[in-house]
Amino acid sequence: MTRNEAVKEIKALRMQYMINVQAEDVDSAFRTSNALGIAITALSGPTREQVKELKGKWEKVDQLEYGELSFEILKCSKCEYEVSADAEDDRWKFCPHCGAKMED
Ligand SMILES: [Zn+2]
Repeated sequence: MTRNEAVKEIKALRMQYMINVQAEDVDSAFRTSNALGIAITALSGPTREQVKELKGKWEKVDQLEYGELSFEILKCSKCEYEVSADAEDDRWKFCPHCGAKMED
């Protein structure tokens, strides 16, 4: 069974379950429905393999000096988007262009 098939099954199960809920069970039914919703969301996300493909790293392109300031021009290994960063900069955990998670 694939993840998509599992999602389909869980959605059908939730629908069936909600149709058959008795009035006095509504609170617990909502909790169950929420839990199934979380399961559906988790199963619908990218697979571990897809997340791995979204990993990149910053490659140094150039170094710019402005008096005492020094900037590196970095390029995303996935999409070649360029950013400038100083040595203390840890803003770029993700590429702002393609969303790749950057390795240190
Ligand atoms: Zn990128």
